[in-house]
Amino acid sequence: MDSSVYVFVEDLRGEGVERVLDRISAYGVRGVTVGAVHHASRDITPHGLSRLTIRREGAHFPPPPDLFSGRRLKPATGHQDALDGLREACTRRGLALHGWTVFLRNATIGAAHPDVTVRDCFGDRGSPADLCPAHPDVREYAVALARAVARLGVDSVVAESLHFRPLKPERSFVPLGPMDAYLFGLCFCDYCMRRAADLGVDAEVAREECARIVGGVLGGDPPAQGEVTRAALTAYAGPDVVAYARARSETVTTLVSEVASAVAAEGSKLVFIDSTGAVKGYRDGLPTPGLAAHDAWQLGVDLVALGDLVPAFGVLAYARDAARVADDVGAYLRSVGKDREVRAVLRPGYPDSDSTDRLVAKARGAKAAGAMAVDFYAYGLVPHPVLDRIPATLAEAF
Ligand SMILES: [Zn+2]
Repeated sequence: MDSSVYVFVEDLRGEGVERVLDRISAYGVRGVTVGAVHHASRDITPHGLSRLTIRREGAHFPPPPDLFSGRRLKPATGHQDALDGLREACTRRGLALHGWTVFLRNATIGAAHPDVTVRDCFGDRGSPADLCPAHPDVREYAVALARAVARLGVDSVVAESLHFRPLKPERSFVPLGPMDAYLFGLCFCDYCMRRAADLGVDAEVAREECARIVGGVLGGDPPAQGEVTRAALTAYAGPDVVAYARARSETVTTLVSEVASAVAAEGSKLVFIDSTGAVKGYRDGLPTPGLAAHDAWQLGVDLVALGDLVPAFGVLAYARDAARVADDVGAYLRSVGKDREVRAVLRPGYPDSDSTDRLVAKARGAKAAGAMAVDFYAYGLVPHPVLDRIPATLAEAF
């Protein structure tokens, strides 16, 4: 059974590559998954150099000039020396190295180039961190970024946010229902509308319908009740909106296909992570009822189609319940194909795991459901006693 621990570059800079790898190696895991390209964040870091860590957005390596010269979108400059010596230090310990890459969540690029960010049904570009996967410049950037990370010599490129993202306002005192928020989060930029129209969808009718419904709730109409499903959405917003939402998967599937090919051409392999599991369970480990694999379409992720294109998938199993972890992994494998590599990403502590026993139960559940690996998230975010649950879990579960 394969395994890894997620690590941020700030962990390596703070504690030092050798010390962090010595610890991780002692847990008995097979590899590390390092945040090679990340988004900005401010995190509580219980054992880092600082207790509150500001994470810098960007690529934590020098971007190869041949991949980015002449392109409009370039990665922001991260800690460019953060990965120096890491590949060699992993090899010396027999650890695999995976390059975790955040693709389309990037407020630096979005602020500099608002035209490549998503545009809602009212025509507003209010999500500067959300780059639209339909925009040709964004697609070129994603492929170049994937190549750049693959060239670091990583065993895999782990793709996060390589799809549409849900609406995330910082404040809202309007009680939007799940379906209202979903409609508000759909992108109606020129490229999205053109792609939908090419697939026979009346994109303008879909946009008008979204604006009418969301505008109504903003004006005081009662919000939608119930979770987002295709049937509920059809009843609430009509067939044109559902057809528009489903057309987004063509945009994502073709982009992921290009990225997977580019990574393979550089001699590495793509691990695709869709954020649905995080949307459902990130906050408290109590995911909403629908399994992640069944609801991934909402972000434009067609797992059945991607199963033919991508060799490996990460499932964000952010849940307290071991049975739920097993159900999510099982549903994923049924969607992407039994022969695909599915990796369960587990949080060893708060808010998902309150004991070693619970973590063991979840790892066992993931394995029984067919997962080929477990990855633990994340080194710098959890206290040492929580990390110390990892060796017991690996010993008892596998
Ligand atoms: Zn768009």
